Amino acid sequence: MSLLSVIVPCYNEEESVELFYSELMKNDVFFMEKNIEIEILYIDDGSKDGTAAEVKKLHEKDERVRLVSFSRNFGKESAMYAGLEKSRGDYVVMMDVDLQDPPSLLPEMFSYMEQGYDSVATRRVSRKGEPPVRSFFARKFYKLMKKISKTEIMDGARDYRLMTRQMVNAILSMQEYNRFTKGIFGWVGFHTKWLEYENIERAKGETKWNFWKLLMYSFDGITAFSTAPLMIASFMGVLFCILAFVMIIFIVVRKLIFGDPVSGWPSLVCIILMTSGVQFFCTGILGQYLAKAYMEVKRRPIYIVKEEL
Ligand code: UDP
Ligand code: MG
Repeated sequence: MSLLSVIVPCYNEEESVELFYSELMKNDVFFMEKNIEIEILYIDDGSKDGTAAEVKKLHEKDERVRLVSFSRNFGKESAMYAGLEKSRGDYVVMMDVDLQDPPSLLPEMFSYMEQGYDSVATRRVSRKGEPPVRSFFARKFYKLMKKISKTEIMDGARDYRLMTRQMVNAILSMQEYNRFTKGIFGWVGFHTKWLEYENIERAKGETKWNFWKLLMYSFDGITAFSTAPLMIASFMGVLFCILAFVMIIFIVVRKLIFGDPVSGWPSLVCIILMTSGVQFFCTGILGQYLAKAYMEVKRRPIYIVKEEL
């Protein structure tokens, strides 16, 4: 007998809680055949609607349903971390409650685990149903990450993933405050099988991520898994020194040939504006990393639990 923990982060998802449960339970026969016991961990990420109440209703009917409620909204990253920490299973799977991560894939995922994989991950190969601007920037983000980060981050990778206890413990050992799970999965390594599927639209409710939130999240990803932007400052510095050197030679030579040392006021203004712009830009990048380091050294908890069932 082995135990499977299903981790489900929820934020204002009262309509989906029950729906997800019944969809997951369609695998009941499979779980029975394979001698797999399950526990379902709903992580209520500070929902303001009846999400917790819905989970409690399920808990009364079915003991295997557990609830962890946060004191406020800490974000999906924190919810996933809490789920991993509270899970007790030999296997752990993370899924969105909105059924964009189809529970019907579980038997196939398990079949790969039996072949000796440590983890079965999923990625969507299409982004249909998503605003085109969002898809465009998402693609660009993954392309950029591929270039500037040593950690493998798959394009279209979802957080839907089945893992062994060993891998879960490895992830838990990374206690950073600025979490970017897609990168953490890649960083810890292990033998991973990738399953692909077409994008599935949300069953109920609305997405919790607007464009701005996603953009900020992508910056988190970049600062968490690459220090390449810090190189920009050094690179620009060298480039501008070379440029300055060439110009000095040019001006000296011109003075020797033509006389007139005091021309070029407009070009001077342009140069000052540009170099100060570049300096601000580079200081900004430095500031980003400093801010992240500042948050890390505070060692604040990743989440705070209000209630647990
Ligand atoms: N979620 C969460 N905390 C948040 C935002 C989202 O726990 O602050 C959960 C949400 O309830 C859902 C999952 O994360 O189960 C994915 O969110 P969503 O479907 O809104 O994102 P999308 O699929 O549009 O990227
Ligand atoms: Mg979703």
